[in-house]
Amino acid sequence: MASKMASCIFCKIVKGDIPCFKLFESEKTLAFLDINPLSRGHALVIPKYHGEKLTDIPDDSLVELLPVAKKLALATGATEYNILQNNGRGAHQEVDHVHVHMIPKPNPEEGLGIRWPQQ
Ligand code: C5P
Repeated sequence: MASKMASCIFCKIVKGDIPCFKLFESEKTLAFLDINPLSRGHALVIPKYHGEKLTDIPDDSLVELLPVAKKLALATGATEYNILQNNGRGAHQEVDHVHVHMIPKPNPEEGLGIRWPQQ
C-alpha cells in the first residue's frame, strides 16, 4: 500500500507535491479541476485516504464526496450535469485513487456562470 501511495498522482496532489486548481478542501476530502476537462468546470472530488476502488475506502472518507460534488455542481450554475465514479479498467478508471467526477453540461445558449466557492 505504501509504495502505491508514493506513486499515486492524486496522493501527490493531496500532499501538495503536484499543483492543482483547488476547489474545496476539508480534513478528509479534496476537490480540484480536472486537467483534461470534458466540459468547462469538470471537477474531481477525492477522499484523501488512498484506495483504488470504492470498496477500498472506509465509509467515513466517503460521506463528503457527494455533498461536495453537489456544492460544485451548484457553483457552476449548470442545471444539467453528470456525477460519476469509475471502478476498474473495464469501467474506464484510469487513475487508481477513488474520485468522483462532476461534469457540467453547459446550456448551449447561456454557457456557464461558474462561481466557485471561496478558496
Ligand atoms: O475516472 P478516470 O480514472 O478515468 O478519470 C481520471 C481523471 O483524472 C481524468 O479525467 C483525468 O483528466 C484526471 N486527471 C487529473 N489530473 C491528473 C491526472 C488525471 O485531473 N494529474
